[in-house]
Amino acid sequence: MIIDGKREAKVLRDQIKKEISVLKSKLSKIPNLTVILVGKFVPSEIYVKNKVKMSEEVGINSKVIRYPESVSEEEVLKKIEELNRDTDVSGILVQLPLPKQINKEKIINLIDPTKDVDGFHPINVGNLASGSKSIIPCTPLGCLKLIKKAEKNLEGKHAVIIGRSNLNGKPMAQLLLRENCTVTVAHSKTNDLRDECVKADILVAAAGVPQLVKKDWVKENSIIIDVGINKLDNKIVGDVHFDGVKDKVKAITPVPGGVGPMTIACLLKNTLECFKAHLT
Ligand code: NAD
Repeated sequence: MIIDGKREAKVLRDQIKKEISVLKSKLSKIPNLTVILVGKFVPSEIYVKNKVKMSEEVGINSKVIRYPESVSEEEVLKKIEELNRDTDVSGILVQLPLPKQINKEKIINLIDPTKDVDGFHPINVGNLASGSKSIIPCTPLGCLKLIKKAEKNLEGKHAVIIGRSNLNGKPMAQLLLRENCTVTVAHSKTNDLRDECVKADILVAAAGVPQLVKKDWVKENSIIIDVGINKLDNKIVGDVHFDGVKDKVKAITPVPGGVGPMTIACLLKNTLECFKAHLT
């Protein structure tokens, strides 16, 4: 089974669109996502363009605040304080990476946790870890939804995650623990990565290393979620050697067309949830 992330993302976007349209007719209000974009880093420009386009398609009002590469940390912090106070703003997203004069932690920590659509604020990170209600980072949330397309009940499964970033690996581990999986988090200092991967019923690859996971690294009948986005010979490939692995496993996500579209759909979902939380 090839898990079609494009199709699943469309299904989720359609649900979000429907819900927003109902809320709009009842309340005459729609969610707003405000994105802060610093500098002219091309991948960030592309990500933001897609986020804005998809937001508008589902009925979320979006706004991009652009700053030059040289902007001061103080100016961005001031803008975040203003957006925190603005009752018309449901979600705030600061596109990463940021230039070196800006402390990423300071920026993330200042965003109102109830508007933190990326789920990076320490309060959301802590709530996820302790099992409380929280805003969940978009990529791991999307991954979980894709895993569930292949297998509803994950209890007792052995999940292996390659990568321990705050963005992907760590929240993914928390989410899979919540599903009662036994979780191994592997990383660049793991002694024998292949040996860990072959034990996985669910393998989430988020290392950023092209085609790291080969056919003899995966267990038969397992579920493979490929988070990686890498350039190899002018093509976009994942962290998994898709052609080698696909016939051995129960389900696998392709790159592109797997986790990527789901990540954006989950951002829209988080924006809607933030909007709803502010209605009460
Ligand atoms: P990161 O660089 O912050 O973290 C990478 C992690 O992988 C680290 O914990 C590191 O220890 C581990 N790692 C690196 N090389 C390894 C190796 N050879 N063996 C084992 N572990 C190794 O990266 P990130 O931000 O978590 O992103 C990971 C990948 O996911 C990148 O390719 C990125 O482009 C992609 N990504 C995709 C989406 C999406 O929507 N599909 C979203 C975010 C990131």
